[in-house]
Amino acid sequence: MRRVSVFGATGSIGESTFDLLLRGGGHLAYQTVALTGGRNVTRLAEMARALRAEVAVTAHEDCLTDLRRLLEGSGVQVAAGEAALREAAERPADWVMSAIVGAAGLAPGMIALEQGATLALANKESLVTAGELLMQTAARHGARVLPVDSEHSAIFQALVGEDIATVERIILTASGGALRDWPLERLATASVAEALAHPNWSMGPRITIDSASMFNKALEVIETREYFGVAPEQIEVIIHPESLIHSMVGYSDGAIMAHLGAHDMRHAIGYALNWPERQELPVARLNFAEIARLSFRAPEDARYPALRLAREVMAVRGKAGTVFNAAKEVALDHFIAGSCGFLEMAGIVEDTLSCMAGQLTLSAAPVSLAEVLETDALARVRAAEMADKLQREKRT
Ligand code: NAD
Ligand code: MG
Repeated sequence: MRRVSVFGATGSIGESTFDLLLRGGGHLAYQTVALTGGRNVTRLAEMARALRAEVAVTAHEDCLTDLRRLLEGSGVQVAAGEAALREAAERPADWVMSAIVGAAGLAPGMIALEQGATLALANKESLVTAGELLMQTAARHGARVLPVDSEHSAIFQALVGEDIATVERIILTASGGALRDWPLERLATASVAEALAHPNWSMGPRITIDSASMFNKALEVIETREYFGVAPEQIEVIIHPESLIHSMVGYSDGAIMAHLGAHDMRHAIGYALNWPERQELPVARLNFAEIARLSFRAPEDARYPALRLAREVMAVRGKAGTVFNAAKEVALDHFIAGSCGFLEMAGIVEDTLSCMAGQLTLSAAPVSLAEVLETDALARVRAAEMADKLQREKRT
């Protein structure tokens, strides 16, 4: 039986992964090693019982008593906190889903790769914050990273049987998010609720807001560069409001391979779960007569400064991605808390990058997980200072 773990089981990707594991036979087909979550311990306990997991881990120590009570008599071990997450990642597994949101997902994924596990990577922040290190760790331990982000799964599938040297361009599609049709002048006033109203996909709250600001696409451009090793100039972004083409690969003979499917993350998760085979998946089938047309438009620079910043980050590489991701997470926290405006997030990230460039040699890649986490922590302090400075300037 295949041994599987899911980090971030109670989130949007985690729920879809759980659904596929259950449909695939649950505990009769998979030996579930670890399931992890946050404060939603009721759901975590339900999942752990259903899959007969070895261990259920909550990220929060103060939730341990509840989790223990919920799993009493179930035979599932319980644990809490960051060290417990790391310990869970050390348990031998064949397939590990990395679906924690944010840089917090990096350590468990790296540890799983060190054990030689196949890492199904939904946590795009891992590749942005520590791309070179993550891919090197996988190579060193003979482990595999399989993309789960829908765009990267699409590209991965469009590359099957092809030579990466013949790739001319990679075209990432973007829905444009909740505010794509808003006039530019109004964007500055966008509220959290407005940025959360994604037209096509149902996702966790952070990635949904990142879709509206295109910070999500900015992370994905960097993710593409780090995962597939193509040059930044080969990566393009196009807004495709229907979100049915999940991305495209253009080859040296002018041919373009596009990946199409319903907006359902169970496709990309299922592809990574069943890889290298393709198995039936419970996703809707497309009806082209009903769809009738697909549309495209170029992203405007003025609307999406995040895309420009991603190019700057790729030009520097090294620790620039670590700083970019950390600053983006802090700016997003401030937007969610109401202490910065929608368009101000990019300014916070840009100021943090400039400030950190004066403090560190950003182009030097981090050589260890500890160095990534140290840079991440420092960038968060600087980003918080930038956000406070902005607040003070607004008041005066
Ligand atoms: P989510 O917010 O729905 O779920 C996040 C999960 O991580 C939850 O289980 C939560 O308890 C856990 N978590 C949050 N903070 C944590 C911390 N500090 N330590 C440990 N656990 C923590 O998020 P999501 O939408 O499922 O996204 C998960 C990851 O997948 C993100 O990196 C996101 O960018 C990526 N992704 C998501 C989608 C999607 O459709 N939702 C698509 C592509 C990529
Ligand atoms: Mg995506």
